[in-house]
Amino acid sequence: MNVGIIGAGAAGLAAGYDLVNAGHAVTLYESAPFTGGQASTIEVGGGRLERGYHHLFTSDYAIIDLIQEIGLSEELKWFPSLVGTYAAGRVYRTTTPLDLLKFGALPLLGRIRLGLLALRLQRMKNWRALESFTADQWLRTRLGGRAYEVVWNPLLRAKFGEYYEEIGMPWFWSKIQTRFASRKGLGGERLGYPIGSFDSIFDELARRIESAGGRVLLENPVRTVEVANGEAAGITALGTDREPFSEGFDAVIATVPSFEFPKLVDLPDHYRSRLDSVHYLAAVVLILEMNRPLTDIYWMNIADRSVPFLGIIEHTNLAPRSLYGGRYVLYLTNYLDRRDEMFALSPDELLDRYLPHLKKFNPAFQPNWIERMHYNSVSAAQPIIGANYSARIPDHRTPIRRLYLANTTQIYPEDRGTNYSVRMGRQVARMLMQDEKNGWNAWPAA
Ligand SMILES: Cc1cc2nc3c(=O)[nH]c(=O)nc-3n(C[C@H](O)[C@H](O)[C@H](O)COP(=O)(O)OP(=O)(O)OC[C@H]3O[C@@H](n4cnc5c(N)ncnc54)[C@H](O)[C@@H]3O)c2cc1C
Repeated sequence: MNVGIIGAGAAGLAAGYDLVNAGHAVTLYESAPFTGGQASTIEVGGGRLERGYHHLFTSDYAIIDLIQEIGLSEELKWFPSLVGTYAAGRVYRTTTPLDLLKFGALPLLGRIRLGLLALRLQRMKNWRALESFTADQWLRTRLGGRAYEVVWNPLLRAKFGEYYEEIGMPWFWSKIQTRFASRKGLGGERLGYPIGSFDSIFDELARRIESAGGRVLLENPVRTVEVANGEAAGITALGTDREPFSEGFDAVIATVPSFEFPKLVDLPDHYRSRLDSVHYLAAVVLILEMNRPLTDIYWMNIADRSVPFLGIIEHTNLAPRSLYGGRYVLYLTNYLDRRDEMFALSPDELLDRYLPHLKKFNPAFQPNWIERMHYNSVSAAQPIIGANYSARIPDHRTPIRRLYLANTTQIYPEDRGTNYSVRMGRQVARMLMQDEKNGWNAWPAA
């Protein structure tokens, strides 16, 4: 087969890698001048750093297996991670059960309830029992009182803004599962990071695809999926010279966000309404290169609505700063609706808003600790997945035969992540190869 893939992020590259390995011809079209999509990188202090903070959990088996398969196991290092929560005017450590017992923002009974609830969710393997609840409903009733209002409610609001009441409980369950998996016993949390950045994985996948005869076309945005007799038949893209060109394919996999997909191809209403039903939040991230650290914590949750960002991720409290020419690197992050006024602020205006709050995390902080700043926004960063979602997930097999969709709205019940995009990309590649063997008979009626 000759397969066209739209997008060279984790999902597109993983699918392309499996297809070329199975002997198929593959062309990946990527609109950006780089691979990696949301996990792509910029240059910082001579090293590569993700546009948005990235790490792996010990339960991220799909990507860990792929890393091993492509000979990069040595790249993936596991580092101790400290988690903190800013609440009631101060920073608390919240990595271990012992930390939780010392979490003074809550009375002792609240801390115990919080710990027991997390343990209960961690032991619960059947997430389907949670499907009909939103996280807000479930936590409010099961945890209730101050434990919910002081910790989880501000964190849900910080992450999802006005959409926080819609988030399905399986999202929360999956977060507890992944975090617990990376925290063994009382010894704290270990998180993974590929020492040459996530680029090392994407570069190697692209290299292997190309050396097997596949093509990875950067700065080639797809404009149309060509359809003939109800089947995907080709792709029209813009070349680097901005001239449109078309190529024929036996099948097409799109890994673009749901709001982009209908711009590429006409879709029947029933499928389109599934795509439209999931709203995405954008991530707005400031990366600060500093001459000293702000705190000793890697992942700082902010359970205080007076702070205008949702988290501080001090990357060099996880990975060594020698990777970035000795710079301390931290991310100030927000998930925002694209209509949010903060989304329209310039990087300097955003920093001006954030700066006065940094002293809350370290009273000695001075603006001259910041040597350089980078700004990034990712438009399809976080899909809002509501209750009872399993009945509403768009099929990978779209109503147009031989046209597949693999994007982060189809990851469920887990939260989106590189691990799940790799798993999904490989699943869809397998599905496509099986469909071809079966003469494309598995297709649902359009
Ligand atoms: C701030 C932030 C922090 C994150 N932290 C983590 C983390 O710690 N660990 C983790 O595992 N995951 C993390 N993630 C999630 C992870 O990055 C994504 O889930 C994953 O990279 C998605 O991969 P994908 O291939 O499914 O989609 P994408 O990465 O979105 O790839 C889709 C690709 O399609 C391209 N494209 C779109 N339209 C077209 C078109 N018309 N023509 C051609 N190309 C097109 C895009 O440019 C993009 O490269 C984070 C995400 C964000 C935003």
